[in-house]
Formats: sequence, structure tokens, C-alpha cells
Amino acid sequence: MKLKDLGEFGLIDRIARQVHKAPSVVLGIGDDAAALAPTAETLTLITSDMLLDGVHFDLNFTDAKSLGRKSLSVNLSDLAAMGATPRQFLLGIALPKDFSTELMDGFMAGVLEQAERFGVTLVGGDTCSSRSGLVVSITALGEQRPERVVKRSGASVGELVCVTGTVGDAAAGLELLRQGVREGFLVSRQLDPEPRIAVGVALADNGLATAMIDVSDGVVADLGHICELSGVGARLQLGALPFSDEYRTFCADDPYALGLSGGEDYELLFCIKPKHRDAVADLLAGFGVKFSVIGEVVKGEGIELVTPDGAPYQVVQKGFDHFQ
Ligand code: ADP
Ligand code: MG
Repeated sequence: MKLKDLGEFGLIDRIARQVHKAPSVVLGIGDDAAALAPTAETLTLITSDMLLDGVHFDLNFTDAKSLGRKSLSVNLSDLAAMGATPRQFLLGIALPKDFSTELMDGFMAGVLEQAERFGVTLVGGDTCSSRSGLVVSITALGEQRPERVVKRSGASVGELVCVTGTVGDAAAGLELLRQGVREGFLVSRQLDPEPRIAVGVALADNGLATAMIDVSDGVVADLGHICELSGVGARLQLGALPFSDEYRTFCADDPYALGLSGGEDYELLFCIKPKHRDAVADLLAGFGVKFSVIGEVVKGEGIELVTPDGAPYQVVQKGFDHFQ
């Protein structure tokens, strides 16, 4: 069956029927707007990300369910990077008329599976036809107490630069997909990233992260955003960058190039006071998430890269920019 057989309202009905109730949602899908009840004494954090066929994903590379999960994950990751607990989201979709309902059902199964896992509720959206492939636009809402929100601008000189998990995997996975590989650890890191929600919220709740961002454009580009907004520079020890064994095998010649510029790992990059190092290590160990200190915040601007033998290192590729 194709979407043109189901119709716009048939599709919306099909989606609405799968959504569970939540106490924070006074009015969900079905009216002109949703009505939400925020938790007392919290700010609402709101973020939006689009995913376009041919730009962000390729339906020849990914199954619909993984794409659904990733569409929500990248938005939840932005909330995690602010230390916010995700609560609700809106889903905008533009679909070709001949899009199969089977693909659509797979996509929605992925979106709603991830929503369930992270306790977020679909409260509305928009649906229209597309003349150029699938377009997904998700807007996610989260909550945090005002004094606990973690911004990009909070880093100070002398702090440690830290990262969760491993970096470079998703970029290597994309390279493998282009070469025809369709499975394995690196490919799954590209197609189905894990947003670090619990860690982001815990770092914020405990007042441990001074500045935070999720690694969507690459370590150098994303740390660059923290540095710029905080008015500081950073020195990165390349020998401390966390790489997976699979990634090391893939990038045997030079692990740094892709590790520094490859995006889409959706790990958290954050700064902490040196005295909090053990507390943060313990906290992340409690979540079973790898923790690495990869550098320090310094005076000035820009990011200095130091190889394990102390030599300076130049990045060739800067990270992803849609218009470059
Ligand atoms: P309007 O014409 O007033 O914008 P719509 O027909 O677009 O209303 O939407 C009807 C209801 O269905 C609204 O509550 C809207 O939020 C919801 N909705 C539309 N598309 C989606 C979608 N893709 N996912 C979830 N809810 C949706
Ligand atoms: Mg509408």
C-alpha cells in the first residue's frame, strides 16, 4: 500500500493511535495545538533538527526503523547537551505520494520505540507531501531547573575538556556504507547513534559540567563552538582521544584526521573543574559510559592539537558545514 491510498488524515490517525498518554500532556495530537503542563520551577528547553533524504540519510543505506530512531535521537542529544530531561516532541514529515506505508510504519516504529525508551511523548506535528524525497523535522522539548542548564558559554581557563564514549566511529561507518558495507559496529554507530541522555542530565543535576555540547559536527568543530562562546582556547592531547578497536583497525594510518573532524557520534563533549575529575569518572562509570579527559581549557582562542610525541598537529578537514 502507498501513502496516497491512506491519505493525510489516515496517516495522522495511524500515528495518533500508537501514542501513549503522559501526565505532562494535557492535550495531545488532534486539536489545532497541543497543551502541555510544565514541571514547576523548570525552564522549557526546545530544539529542532531536520533530516533530509540525500543530505542526512540515504534510504539505500538505512532501514526505516533505524532512521526513525536516529531522527529522534539527534534531537534528544541536543537536549542532553543542555542537561535537560526530554519530555515531548513534535514530528513534521514531508513524504513522496508513492512512499510505501510499510516504510512509513517502519519509520514510525523506530521513532516511537525511541520515544518510549527515553520517556518522551509525541504531541503533534505536521504532515505534507514532498516532491523531493522524505523530509523529517523534529522539535523536542525538555526541562531543567534554570540554575542547572548547561550552556556552551560556561568554560573557564584551567578546566578539563572531557568526552563520553568514543569518537570517529560514525564517520568511519559512513565511509564503510559508501563502500557497500551494511552492518557492523561502525555502521551501526552511523545509522543508530545512542543519545547520552542520562549522562547529560546527571552532569547537569550534579553541577559538574561547566559547558557542554554534543558531538554532531566533529570534536574540533564542536569544541570550537564552546571555545568561541566561552571566550577561551583549548589544548587537545591527541593521544587521549578515545577510539574504538573497530575504528583503530579502520583508520590504521591516521586515526586523528577522522577522529577530530568526523561528526555524528552524538557523544557529549564537556568541561569540568579539575577537582571534579574523580566525581565525574565515578558518575559515568555508574552509567557504564566511557569517560576520557582529552585536553584543557587555555587562555586565548582556537584549538591547539598536540600529538603523543609533543608535536603540533594540523587538521585538514574542519568538520561538517552544510554550505561548504
Ligand atoms: P492543521 O491543519 O490545523 O495544522 P493538521 O491537520 O496538520 O492540523 O494536524 C491535525 C493534528 O494532527 C494536529 O494535532 C497535529 O499536531 C497532528 N499531526 C499532524 N501531523 C502529525 C505528525 N506527523 N505526527 C504527529 N502529529 C501530527
Ligand atoms: Mg498542520
